[in-house]
Amino acid sequence: MRGVCPRCGRPAWIYPKNKGSNIYFEAVHVEDRTTCYLGPEVYKYVSVTHDLDLKGALEPTLERVLAYLKDAVVMLEENMEEELRKVKDVERVYSKALEVEAEVRRLLQLLRRVKERARAVGGSGAEG
Ligand SMILES: [Zn+2]
Repeated sequence: MRGVCPRCGRPAWIYPKNKGSNIYFEAVHVEDRTTCYLGPEVYKYVSVTHDLDLKGALEPTLERVLAYLKDAVVMLEENMEEELRKVKDVERVYSKALEVEAEVRRLLQLLRRVKERARAVGGSGAEG
């Protein structure tokens, strides 16, 4: 498929390539036929040990990170609730909750800045 290379932003053809039982993607730049490696859609072996679907560069970074964040929130919910049910190491869970809270504050500040800039630029739907 013809598109834009998600790694370098140049116009490219995106091709799936079979390697053993896996399918990887590669961008071949229209201009000079050089390539960028995009990885698989999902790194299945790594994902098994991380409980996250780690994705290749085929999907844009912002979409990938948002999917990771959503997965991470679900994992935090499950793990923290489970740890609290065990009532074994409540201090550790409490301290992790404080760390998560600090990251959420940073995230909220980032979102405030992004929304202000989006409103200033006047992007479509950038209200509220
Ligand atoms: Zn590229």
